[in-house]
Amino acid sequence: MKFIDEYRNSELARKLAQNIARRSTRTIRLMEFCGGHTHAILRYGIRQLVPKTVELRSGPGCPVCVTASADLDKAIALAHLPDVITTTFGDMIRVPGSYSSLQKAKAEGADVRIVYSTIDAVDIAKANPGKSVIFIGIGFETTAPTIAASILRAQQESIENFYVLSLNKFTPPVMKALLDSGEIKLDGIVCPGHVSVIIGSHPYEFIPRDYGVACVISGFEPLDILLCIDRLVEQIEEGEPKVEIAYPRGVKPEGNRKAQQLMEHVFEIGEANWRGIGVVPESGLKIRGKYEQFDADKVFSVSPKPPKEPKGCRCGDVIRGAATPLECQLFRNVCTPESPVGPCMVSSEGACAAYYQYGVTENLPGL
Ligand code: SF4
Repeated sequence: MKFIDEYRNSELARKLAQNIARRSTRTIRLMEFCGGHTHAILRYGIRQLVPKTVELRSGPGCPVCVTASADLDKAIALAHLPDVITTTFGDMIRVPGSYSSLQKAKAEGADVRIVYSTIDAVDIAKANPGKSVIFIGIGFETTAPTIAASILRAQQESIENFYVLSLNKFTPPVMKALLDSGEIKLDGIVCPGHVSVIIGSHPYEFIPRDYGVACVISGFEPLDILLCIDRLVEQIEEGEPKVEIAYPRGVKPEGNRKAQQLMEHVFEIGEANWRGIGVVPESGLKIRGKYEQFDADKVFSVSPKPPKEPKGCRCGDVIRGAATPLECQLFRNVCTPESPVGPCMVSSEGACAAYYQYGVTENLPGL
């Protein structure tokens, strides 16, 4: 398949892996921020291809996983309000909140619907003028422009029963929070491809400058990831950390200005609550005052019970890269994709789901 096969060429992959092995003289730890990268790394056997000196750790780049229990509980409480239709992307519906899930709310009679785009949610609002349609807005910089577009469309078409619960998050501030915590030592970051299509490479520049950590933006095919690791290893070995783009067919240094303008027009920066990390300043997107008629947080009032985490679940540690899924005692015994205990096993981008799906049974040697 054109544009795919050339990024999956096994001969080139072997050569890149040999390059990495030749360059790598000391043990290093890299974090792949994005859950999509974790899945690709396991799917294509990249852990086995790179030398044992390179440890790959999964990070917080799974939007469903990082949605805090308190926020999820709020979404579930909203779903139970009378005359409300709750719309959300697929994975969210099965994630266990503190006491329930959107799936259970649906079984109890709440009108909860899965949508494939934010515009579908606007269309549902248009078709149901007697109901309030709330879209649960999760995701990173990649999805925020589409959510902004849905709000603008609702405004243009005078749709007055469409609302967004904005749980959207920003990537660079949480990277900063992880590095500031010092909990896990990192030498390099495999920066997210899709997020960087929108924001470009400049927002990561503080990472090599202030923390001495190498940053390379990667695509999602095996050669993209191997090239990214090769660039990271070279930067680390030469002691010259910087931001590089190893995904030039998708990412420009300045990002997508149109999408950025759309986001900035509808949203302003605020704090966000991250599962396992807590409240991180300037890492969330709040709907601007001029669009508050669409802001579910402002229009509806719910008071869910205090949140609690699933007993024994180490999703918070997995999200911070402080543990791998194998270090959770519930992994595979109690917690499975059919009967998930935490969001990292529910989400198609979750690290626990990836470890389960690709049969990972041991941590490869690391730091
Ligand atoms: Fe949570 Fe299940 Fe992952 Fe354990 S295996 S951290 S319970 S999602």
